[in-house]
Parts: sequence; structure tokens; C-alpha cells
Amino acid sequence: MYIELESVFNREGESVQFDYEFSLDDENITTPVKVVGSVFNRTGIVGLKATAKFDYSTQCAKCNKPLLRHATVPIKHTLISHVENEEDRDMYIVVERMCLELDELVSEEVFLSIPSRFLCKEDCKGLCPFCGTDLNESTCNCSKPADSRWDVLKDLFNE
Ligand SMILES: [Zn+2]
Ligand SMILES: [Zn+2]
Repeated sequence: MYIELESVFNREGESVQFDYEFSLDDENITTPVKVVGSVFNRTGIVGLKATAKFDYSTQCAKCNKPLLRHATVPIKHTLISHVENEEDRDMYIVVERMCLELDELVSEEVFLSIPSRFLCKEDCKGLCPFCGTDLNESTCNCSKPADSRWDVLKDLFNE
């Protein structure tokens, strides 16, 4: 979605609200991304504040259990209509021709917000490396191979 920001840039106190959704072409994101927020001019500084909500599917890095997560991503930026020096591009969102392509901005934040590694719970025990049993749900009879290095360490600590 494009938002026309000329009036916001030109007038203190002016704001534009938005509340819409768009679909992101990503196999893990299972719902449209719902975006609610506003762009406002406060004492000459133009800010954007929004939240993006969506669901996505992933899996536990230890036990491979499929997981469905709800995400709420806060988005906050200062917008400028022209660049004065190159550092501006790192600090602010440059709005060319006072027209902001919101989907692009939100998509970037959405992708950045999704962690690359998930656990179904903090203390997920994972799968047995020998037989594949989900150790959160049951135990198996695979005996851990005796590790003699461990015994040596234990002896050291006991002395
Ligand atoms: Zn797990
Ligand atoms: Zn096992």
C-alpha cells in the first residue's frame, strides 16, 4: 500500500492512520500480515509507528515438532523526505516523492523478526540420537555409550 505523505511532511500536527492487511509471499507465514498504525508530524519530525501481526509455522530445532506462532512486531521509524548526507540512509527511512511504500517496509521488519531457531519449550529434551524417540514424551532403552573421559573428570572433582 502506498501512503501519500505530502500533507504530513508539510504540516505540523498532521497525521495519517492506516489499518489494512496484505499477503506476504512466504511459505512459513500462514496468515495475511495485518498492519495498524500511523504516520504523524510532531514538531516538524515525521514519525511512523505501527504494529504488524501475523501467524507463522516453524518447527522445534531439537524435536522437529511443528509449531504455529503468533507474532506482533512493533515498527517505529523516523521518516525524511530528502537526504542531506549518506548517514541519513542508515538512520531514517527516506520517502521518495513523499510517497511511502508501506508493504515493503513492513515485509522487511516481518522477516527480520522471525528467529531462525526455535524450541517448542525452553527445556525441550529433543530426540534420542539413537532411536529417534521424542524424549519429551517417553524414554527409550538406548543406553548412552560409556564415555571414559567423563569418568576421568568425575574422579578429578572427587579428589
Ligand atoms: Zn522440541
Ligand atoms: Zn533411544
